[in-house]
Amino acid sequence: MFSKNDVIELEITGMTHEGMGVGKKDGFAVFVQGAIDGEKVKAKIIKVLKKYAVARIHEFIEKSPYRKEPFCPVYNRCGGCSLQHMIYEKTLLFKRQVVIDNLTRIGGLENITVKDTIGMENPYNYRNKAQYPVGEGKEDPVSGFYAKRSHEIIESDVCGIQLPDSDKAKRAVLEYMRKYSVPAYNEETGHGLIRHVATKIGFHTGETMVIIVATKSKIPHTEDLISMLKKEISGLKSVVLNVNSKRGNVILGQKNISLYGSSTITDRLGSLYFEISPLAFYQVNPVQTEILYDKAIEFAGLTGKESVFDLYCGIGTISLFAAQKAKNVVGVEIVEEATEAAKKNAAKNNLCNTDFYTGKAEEIVPELYEKGIKADVVFVDPPRKGCDEKLLKTLVDMSPERIVYVSCNPSTLARDLKYLTANGFEVKEVQPVDMFPWTHHVETVVLMSRVDK
Ligand code: SAH
Repeated sequence: MFSKNDVIELEITGMTHEGMGVGKKDGFAVFVQGAIDGEKVKAKIIKVLKKYAVARIHEFIEKSPYRKEPFCPVYNRCGGCSLQHMIYEKTLLFKRQVVIDNLTRIGGLENITVKDTIGMENPYNYRNKAQYPVGEGKEDPVSGFYAKRSHEIIESDVCGIQLPDSDKAKRAVLEYMRKYSVPAYNEETGHGLIRHVATKIGFHTGETMVIIVATKSKIPHTEDLISMLKKEISGLKSVVLNVNSKRGNVILGQKNISLYGSSTITDRLGSLYFEISPLAFYQVNPVQTEILYDKAIEFAGLTGKESVFDLYCGIGTISLFAAQKAKNVVGVEIVEEATEAAKKNAAKNNLCNTDFYTGKAEEIVPELYEKGIKADVVFVDPPRKGCDEKLLKTLVDMSPERIVYVSCNPSTLARDLKYLTANGFEVKEVQPVDMFPWTHHVETVVLMSRVDK
C-alpha cells in the first residue's frame, strides 16, 4: 500500500462522473485530478481514504491525444469547469459514457443505445445567466466563482463560458462598491451588504437584467450604480435588488425590489417569446435549449389530438412548444412566479389550449388523475433530485402512451427509468445534449413508451 505524498505509477483506465481520471494500484482505486483515460502518469497521493485515494499528476509518462491546454487562466482553481483539459469532442464522448454508466449500473438497463452527445458548434460564451459571489478581499471587495468544493472566491475577470455583458455587470458593481466603500458580505460573520451579482440575458433580444443580492432592502447610491451599469451594458432593461438576509448557501432571497426599468425581461426561443423573472427557472444555454426542446417535441410524436402534461414546467417553455402541436397541455410547477409567467407567456404567444397549476407535481398530478384529468403524452423535466416516487406511481397508473424525460442528472434519471421499466414502460431513445460545455454536467432526453400487452 501507499500513503500521502507517495509518488506512484498509474495507468488511467476510467473517469469519475466529475471528470477525474481513475487508476488502480494493487486493486485500490486512485482518483487523479486532471488525468484522462488512456494516460500513464506518475501520481502524487494527496489523501488516502477507506475505499479510494486521491492524487494529482506529478509527471506524465504517456499523454492522451485528447489533451489540450485549458482556455481559462483560473481553470485549475475555479469550481465551475472540469473538462477544459480535454478537446471538445472528447468531452462529448465522456458525457455519453457517463449516461451509459448510469443507465447500466443504477438503472440496470442493458442493450440500450445511447446516441452521440449533441455538442455546440461554438462552445464558448454560451451562458445567459451568471451568479457571481462577492466577498471581502485584502483591501477591496472581490468577485468571481467559488473554488472546487469550497466557498473561497476565485477572482475571475473574464469567464469564457459567460456572455461578456455578465462579466461587465460584475465589474461595474465591484467598481461601485469600491467607489462608495459598500461592504461585501462575510459568510462567516453574516455581516456586510452585497452577497452576489447575478445576471439574466435574453440571448436573442439582448435584454439584460442585473440582480444585486444584498442582506438589506436598501443599498446606497443606487442612481450612480444604475448609471455605471448603463454605461457598460447597452441592453440594460432591468436592475433588481434581491434581499437575502438568511445565512446559508441559497443565493436568492424571496423579496425583489425593482431599482430600474422593468421587473422582467423577454427572450425568444424558436418562434415563441418568454418572460423571464428573477426567481423563475430558465434554461441557461439558449442555443442548446432549442435543440433540446426540438428533440423532446420530436420524441413526443404529437399529432394535434393528444392531451399533454408538462411536469416541472418552469415558465412553460416545453408546454408552449407542445401546445402548438397538441390538443391541450397542462403544466405543473412548484414556483408561483414561474406559473404566473407561464400563464402570461401562453397569452403572449396566443396559445390558449394550456392550463398551469402551482404545486408539487407529486401532489397535483394524483389530484388531477383522481378527477379524471389524464394525459396521452407526459413530459417530465425535474431538478437534480429527479421525480418523487409518488409521481412515478401515478404515471404508471395513468399509463400514458409516451413519457419524455428531460434530465440534468443521469443518476436520478437512471433510478427513475428503472422504476418505469419495471412497471410497463420501455426505453426507446436516449439522447444526451451538451447544455453545459466544459463542465461535467450533461442533459439527457429520453423517450419511453408504454408496453401494450
Ligand atoms: N421545464 C422547464 C423547467 C425545468 S427545471 C424548462 O425547461 O425551463 C425544473 C423545474 O422544476 C424548476 O422550475 C423548479 O422550480 C421545478 N420544481 C422543483 N421541484 C418541483 C416539484 N416537486 N414539483 C413541480 N415542480 C418542481
